[in-house]
Amino acid sequence: MSAYTTANTVDEFRQHLADVYGRITAACAEVGRDPASVRLLPVSKTVPEERIRNAYAAGCNTLGENKVQEAHGKWQAMSDLPDLRWSIIGHLQTNKAKQVAEFASEFQALDSLRVAEALDKRLQALGRSLDVLVQVNTSNEESKFGLPPDEVEAFVKQLPALSSLRVRGLMTLALFSDDAVKVRPCFVRLRTLRDRLRQSAPAGVAMDELSMGMSGDYELAIEEGSTIVRVGQAIFGARRVADSAYWPEQGANR
Ligand SMILES: *Cc1c(COP(=O)(O)O)cnc(C)c1O
Repeated sequence: MSAYTTANTVDEFRQHLADVYGRITAACAEVGRDPASVRLLPVSKTVPEERIRNAYAAGCNTLGENKVQEAHGKWQAMSDLPDLRWSIIGHLQTNKAKQVAEFASEFQALDSLRVAEALDKRLQALGRSLDVLVQVNTSNEESKFGLPPDEVEAFVKQLPALSSLRVRGLMTLALFSDDAVKVRPCFVRLRTLRDRLRQSAPAGVAMDELSMGMSGDYELAIEEGSTIVRVGQAIFGARRVADSAYWPEQGANR
């Protein structure tokens, strides 16, 4: 595992961002893609407010958070920052849908109709809408989160009825491994599924986005077509909290 250095100051965040953007550009060049077709989503989970404010000053104006409670608290604390947006990228329980509807601009981990319905109901009440990505389990039995690939088509067909949800595409967590031979097939699986769903998706459902790739594997993900990379540690620095706090079953295999 590489050692991710911590960014504290605005300058340090600028450096880390420049480094990550440089790698994104290089990965795009490898496969003839336009770097503008890849969105970098900085992931700020566990990072305290003071440092997030510096990241924002360095240009991070949309932040990914795994846990709703933590994200909601940060949203409240930093509501003075104009245009700071929050993307929820972790598993959601129905009873947290109300909070997400209140403040999130994007939810990337949709994998159940109950959660979709709860979100839609809350959003309707608030007169808001939300960009959503459907989370897919591309690593087979490794994780309990995300729909199995063969259930995604039927799931997506039910979403146009929930008019406050704007479906944008798919999201996945690859298998946790330093071995590209194991990781790459997860990304290929998601892209192949997205390409197939493009043919069958109902009106109003967009299948443009592929959210895949994290600090350890975003270049590989870009080679396989990622349009959103979710990068935490390579921007903010190594986390103290074990990954098993976020995806219990996968963390054990790291
Ligand atoms: C934490 C997290 C990331 C970012 O992981 P890093 O190793 O910090 O880049 C990406 N996606 C999800 C769902 C996460 O929870």
